[in-house]
Amino acid sequence: MKIAVASGKGGTGKTMVAANLAFTLSQTCQVTLVDCDVEEPNLHLFFPAPATAKDVTVPVPVIDEKICDRCGKCGEFCQYGALTVLRDRVLFFPELCHSCGGCTLVCPKNAIHEEPKRVGIVTYAKPLPRLDLVSGYLDTGNPFAVPVIRAAKTATAGDSLVILDASPGTSCPVVETLDGCDACILVTESTPFGLHDLQLAVDVTARLGIPAGIVINRSDGKDQATLDFCMNHDLEVMMTIPFDRGIATIQSRGDLLCRVRTEWLKAFSALYGKCCALTGAE
Ligand code: SF4
Ligand code: SF4
Repeated sequence: MKIAVASGKGGTGKTMVAANLAFTLSQTCQVTLVDCDVEEPNLHLFFPAPATAKDVTVPVPVIDEKICDRCGKCGEFCQYGALTVLRDRVLFFPELCHSCGGCTLVCPKNAIHEEPKRVGIVTYAKPLPRLDLVSGYLDTGNPFAVPVIRAAKTATAGDSLVILDASPGTSCPVVETLDGCDACILVTESTPFGLHDLQLAVDVTARLGIPAGIVINRSDGKDQATLDFCMNHDLEVMMTIPFDRGIATIQSRGDLLCRVRTEWLKAFSALYGKCCALTGAE
């Protein structure tokens, strides 16, 4: 079972939900928690533990200027503007390269070969006896999050219960995180912005064919617009977490709601059951 925790916008409490769900499940079974929010990974703050790291690399072209005759074919092929062929050399802009490998294939002189370029790291930790934490970190200044997310997900291949914390929003990194998941928890808050971005996130899960349910966080009791939206779109509100200064204090300390207020273990356990029900699993 792979469950993604996502949100249409940042700051909804998505990471808090993912961390508490994984903590709850780890009380009774083995679980892997994956931080796919690679531009700002912070699950490790809830689960501090020694970690090992592995580089994530992508192939980028290297041009042998001695062989290249400046025919221009690579520059014409590259749809991303990463190659510009001048009279006396070829300029390569690595920050625009999507590592598609096409320029290497089209070069008639075989003047291009590929070399690995680091774009981030994936770390591995075991903060609890039944909890593995895999975190992706995108290198500063690197615009391509997808290869790092893919590497983090690959590290969990074969794990039977995986919780993935997605980036906020609805862009490529979120789609990459959701790909292959059995269910998605969409975390929202009851504000006009929250509802607008929830609509976008619901659209993404629907297009990907992933069953989704809603968690309303920081509820002040004025959730009617969100509830109406969910009812109209046949979405279950699986959990509501109230606006509560005590909960905010627990989080600001980097602690977990379920560890401090153990009565929440039952609620997060029920949330998992509802995710299973979304997929038709027991
Ligand atoms: S396609 Fe090959 S030979 Fe032509 S400009 Fe590019 S690197 Fe040089
Ligand atoms: S690998 Fe693809 S994206 Fe990168 S420079 Fe070559 S053609 Fe452009």
